[in-house]
Amino acid sequence: MLLGDAWATSASGETYDVLDPSTGGVMATVPRAGREDARAAIDAARDAFDRGPWPRMRPEERAKVLEQLAALVQERADDLATLEAQNGGKPIRQASFADIPMAVEHTRHFAHLARSLRDEVVDLPDVGIKSRVLREPIGVCAGIIPWNYPLLMAVWKVAPALAAGNTVVLKPASYTPLTALAYARLAREAGVPSGALNVVTGPGPEVGEELVTNPLVDRVAFTGSTEVGRQIMALAAPGVKKVTLELGGKAPMVVLDDADPEEALPGTLFGAFLHQGQICLSGTRLLLPEGLHDGFLGRLVRMAEQMRLGPTSSWETDMGPLISESQREKVEGYIRKGEEEGATLVTGGGRPEGFERGFYVEPTIFDAVANDMTIAQEEIFGPVLSVLTYRSEEEMVELANGTAYGLAASVWSQDLRRAERVARGIRAGTVWVNHHHILSCATPHGGYKQSGVGRELGIYGLHEYTELKHLFLDETGEAMKDAFGLVLPD
Ligand code: NDP
Repeated sequence: MLLGDAWATSASGETYDVLDPSTGGVMATVPRAGREDARAAIDAARDAFDRGPWPRMRPEERAKVLEQLAALVQERADDLATLEAQNGGKPIRQASFADIPMAVEHTRHFAHLARSLRDEVVDLPDVGIKSRVLREPIGVCAGIIPWNYPLLMAVWKVAPALAAGNTVVLKPASYTPLTALAYARLAREAGVPSGALNVVTGPGPEVGEELVTNPLVDRVAFTGSTEVGRQIMALAAPGVKKVTLELGGKAPMVVLDDADPEEALPGTLFGAFLHQGQICLSGTRLLLPEGLHDGFLGRLVRMAEQMRLGPTSSWETDMGPLISESQREKVEGYIRKGEEEGATLVTGGGRPEGFERGFYVEPTIFDAVANDMTIAQEEIFGPVLSVLTYRSEEEMVELANGTAYGLAASVWSQDLRRAERVARGIRAGTVWVNHHHILSCATPHGGYKQSGVGRELGIYGLHEYTELKHLFLDETGEAMKDAFGLVLPD
């Protein structure tokens, strides 16, 4: 782990094994940190914020360090992709062409945005003078991240926080600490000073809770389940800490009756099964108009059955394993629940043949799903798609909005004006038209309703890592002279 300047073991000396989900075998051993280690990391970050150079550097200088970090990630792209694929259960194609390039690009983007952090001069016409609005760093920022995009999530918590001049303590998910540690190593090499970035590998209920409750931490950024997000909000309340939460989703993919099947079929398949459905943005509810239902679903099922499951190291693999045995059991529990509640299993539903090792589940599609069924309402985080049928646009929008979540949605249609009208009616942080999953570092990412609080990415995300200070400078030297209208005694 990285605690201040030291690559440290845990205070207790304990370690735990990190597994390769394609085989279930051990691929690394890391320190199992406890509260004491978390406190050491927080102290280092606090000291670096209160006394260290990072918050005092000009944004331009911080930008250069982050650009160097992006360059180092780029240089080590192949190694990082191999590590991400093996540890995260992510097919090497996806790790190589998406995760690592995005990690480079997003780090670079926050470097670029750091340069936009300038004082703003505001005219105060009512008092006839100018004042300034400053964007200052908040202080010590804790980042708590999940296992589905281990490196990219680390970048999203570390790069904007550092760009704005904060110091950071990062807690990766216990399943996937390796690329976050590698990123921290490269950050130090790039010139991030001692204590400005710390990484603690240990369980959420100990390390995570210490980060959220410790009074020396000013801000908490969390990505993960809505359940833990709720706990974090409550734990952060006594200290009135600034909290952003990026939580679960149950994204609808709404196919209109004029959708182009050549686009909508592969698009919705991708929306549902990219990274085995373990993405908060995954399209997990497919809304089909009655007239299209049979033909569309029949072809989608045949495509799902053609997907190639395999180890993450193979360039042929479309779908890898789930992250862990317990995640697989959770997903299988939802599949049983779908059957018990009366949905029709049309493909998948089990463990694929020939995969005795590793945590695989077949791409699974349920038809005749009613919106009040568990599989239509809860985040499954696995390759399980629920198909719902609608009869009118009104019913479709009601179904699209009919969960506690509001992270993302997609609309499929050849009539862009109609698609935009539908998109505007959906209460979600991102709505794609004729796409699912595309992400840009320049646009906001986050959720309506129980999908979260605040936004990540772009200038919107950077601003979440700043405090606004109004600096009022009476340059006239006159304004207060008449206060209370009293004559100054000699
Ligand atoms: P969690 O929400 O439990 O974990 C996310 C992060 O929070 C991890 O770093 C975890 O640490 C940490 N954490 C756990 N408990 C606490 C706590 N009490 N205080 C502070 N931090 C804590 O997700 P899981 O990994 O357990 O996955 C469970 C379910 O969550 C999935 O099945 C899926 O439905 C959902 N999920 C949603 C994600 C999203 O992006 N929307 C991402 C990941 C999961 P540790 O790893 O040590 O437990």
